[in-house]
Amino acid sequence: MNRELSEMEESSFHGAKRRETRRVDVGGVAVGGGAPVSVQTMANADPHDREALLAQVRQSAAAGADIVRLTVPDEEAARVFGLVRKDSPVPLVADIHFDWRLAVAALENGADALRLNPGNIGGAENVRAVARAASARGVPIRIGVNGGSLEKDLMEKYGGASAPALVESALRHAALLEAEDFRDIVISVKASDVPRTLAAYRLLSSKTAYPLHVGVTEAGTLIPGLVRSAYAIGTLLAEGIGDTIRVSLTDLPSREVKAGLEILRATGLRGPGPSVTSCPTCGRTKVDLVKAATETEEALEAFARENPGVSLPRVAVMGCVVNGPGEAKHADIALCGGAGFFRAFVRGEMIPGDPVPPERAAEEVVRLVREFAGV
Ligand code: SF4
Repeated sequence: MNRELSEMEESSFHGAKRRETRRVDVGGVAVGGGAPVSVQTMANADPHDREALLAQVRQSAAAGADIVRLTVPDEEAARVFGLVRKDSPVPLVADIHFDWRLAVAALENGADALRLNPGNIGGAENVRAVARAASARGVPIRIGVNGGSLEKDLMEKYGGASAPALVESALRHAALLEAEDFRDIVISVKASDVPRTLAAYRLLSSKTAYPLHVGVTEAGTLIPGLVRSAYAIGTLLAEGIGDTIRVSLTDLPSREVKAGLEILRATGLRGPGPSVTSCPTCGRTKVDLVKAATETEEALEAFARENPGVSLPRVAVMGCVVNGPGEAKHADIALCGGAGFFRAFVRGEMIPGDPVPPERAAEEVVRLVREFAGV
């Protein structure tokens, strides 16, 4: 179902103008049609290892993932997918390549969505079988076109995996599902660089009202991946393009989730989360501040999720007791480092008693936050 951009209405959400798209349901998480932009990640554990997959899914969910994708490369993986699905706290997408039977098996095992390119599963009959099985369960299909796996004829027509080539490929796949009267479709057109990703999504958004899954493919290791993803995803979201996002990193899925959440916060599409002020450290620092600040941030994220609606005090984790208390004076709760320990301060006043060992820093902050917030 293609619609021209000029026909599109825009809706407002958290102050950002968003393109109007159709809405699909991914296991109870609405995608598109003005629903909050969701954050996805993909497990990278062995697809046959239930325990490892479940641990990653749980970690990702605890970090704030709305949806997690698992690859399903064979029958055994489809069976394991079902086992993980039973205990998963969030909807799961089955990632399928080439084999329509695995798509059907994943659906039978409870997949909340499929990621599959219908042009790659061996003809109209197979597309029909998958579309019917998905339709019967109300399960959407994401068409995921990547720069690295484009059809030969489009590579020749466009002289490479250009933005128009990615978009034509995606719409071609979508047409195969539309021919089966299947329209619960989400589309992604990811390139590995920012300019092509931006151009592809802008073009796609002008041609279709299907909800868009936005991301940069093979974005890289933590820092380059974060920068590329934040730039590309943030720019598109600021233009109102994107209904669900994934930050691809050569790193832990839970880090992808954290990055995705921060992009949504930075673009005003999620409310501000807990923020921890921390100093850059210097020669005075005699405690592992990076670890303590990171753990404190994670613990506060978990606290905020478990206590929605509780307004959080301002927290600072500083490297020394000489300048820390002064630099943290705007914080309600502060930890300031000494020689291998921390001292806790509430509203600028040091809490008497034993110093806090670094491994208990996050726990102590959460305890003080609970006291402060009265929960
Ligand atoms: S708070 Fe202390 S450790 Fe941190 S940068 Fe300032 S002086 Fe250095």
